[in-house]
Amino acid sequence: MATLVINNGTVLTMDDDRTVHFGGHVAIDQDRILAVGPGEYADEDAGEDVIDAEGMLVLPGLIDLHFHTAIGKGYSDHLPLWEYLNECWYPLIRNLDAESAYWAAAASYLESVKSGVTTVNDMYRRLPDLARAAADIGIRAVLSNDVALEEHNLDTLQDNKDAHDAVHGLADGRIQVRIGIEWLPLASPALLSEARALADELGTGIHIHLNESLTEVEDSKRRFGRRPTEVAYDAGLLGPDCVAAHCVWLSDTEIALMRETGTQISHNPSSNAKLGNGIARLPEMLAAGINVGLGHDAAECNNSRDMFEVMKFASLMHRAARVDASLQQAPDVVAMATRNGAKALGLEAGQLAAGKKADVILVDTRNVMFTPLADHNIAQIYSHLVFAANGSAVDTTIVDGKVLMRDRQLMTMDENTILTQANVAFRRVLDRIS
Ligand SMILES: [Zn+2]
Repeated sequence: MATLVINNGTVLTMDDDRTVHFGGHVAIDQDRILAVGPGEYADEDAGEDVIDAEGMLVLPGLIDLHFHTAIGKGYSDHLPLWEYLNECWYPLIRNLDAESAYWAAAASYLESVKSGVTTVNDMYRRLPDLARAAADIGIRAVLSNDVALEEHNLDTLQDNKDAHDAVHGLADGRIQVRIGIEWLPLASPALLSEARALADELGTGIHIHLNESLTEVEDSKRRFGRRPTEVAYDAGLLGPDCVAAHCVWLSDTEIALMRETGTQISHNPSSNAKLGNGIARLPEMLAAGINVGLGHDAAECNNSRDMFEVMKFASLMHRAARVDASLQQAPDVVAMATRNGAKALGLEAGQLAAGKKADVILVDTRNVMFTPLADHNIAQIYSHLVFAANGSAVDTTIVDGKVLMRDRQLMTMDENTILTQANVAFRRVLDRIS
């Protein structure tokens, strides 16, 4: 029996055939999709919640494959990556307390929910506090620590194991914990090998920054005599359960290592652009058959969590750099932000099909972003999603069959309280630094 029915919408299933149903339905039973198809959902059983999706697109929730909860944003915006980390990011995250982490996470997840993101792959600290925020707001959260060598005063593998033991599987499985490695400049080959061993012991995955900047590549060559992805490969870190973020400066050899190991890549073009890190070799990664999803990275270095903006960057940057308008067509970009992200995290989501997790969004087309719109023009719909729309077009966000936002109103927490408390938390952490 359906617990929630969406009728009368334009359903972009993002299945293997990219089937679209005009005037279609999605029926949900608890946390799973029960049925998807054309026409109204016919159910003898009364009592289900019915959403009339006239004028709406119905599509899988977006997956932010590389995400950090953020306590601040809008300062140190002029710095390159290495200086930005040392002057902004590390001081902030070394001074978190439980309440500041909770409210920073709630505010971060709030912007995501309001722009149609249903899953975040969040590398940060104080995972139990993040898990509380994710459970309260209702988003699906794959959490990992900022693990580094001990002298850097961030997290240890033991912290990550403790977090896994404490919160992995909570909120009906919406909270998962993976092993996170900050990046190679703060790590060693031995630490990468130990991270792989711990992930295997716990039966979980890995999240790491790799080949983000030229300075990182040079640091790796100087300290280890090899490029970052070669070091990760030799340490046994890579694999289908590993999400490598950025991968801007991959050599041909490193692309081959990613393909050989089935490693998942999160492409984060707007963060890479803002930090002056360059443009990833996305066409070559895709040509190699690597699964690539999309991420916003962090509000401190982006500064928006709107994945519609990330989708647009993921197309335009490559067209501009290669002088080639055929690159990164809109339907492929939407696939990166949905099904590719789900595949990267091993989630039964990212497509609207019976049996999948009920992570669904409704995007309102009755606004100037989607005007004009011809009847039944699928190509135009994808184009508007990637090139014309932003997250404010998202009307409804559903995770695990539960409505988190409807008519742009957050249903699970008080939005004003989140905003107020996030400001309090930011000032408290800033005071502690200065
Ligand atoms: Zn990052």
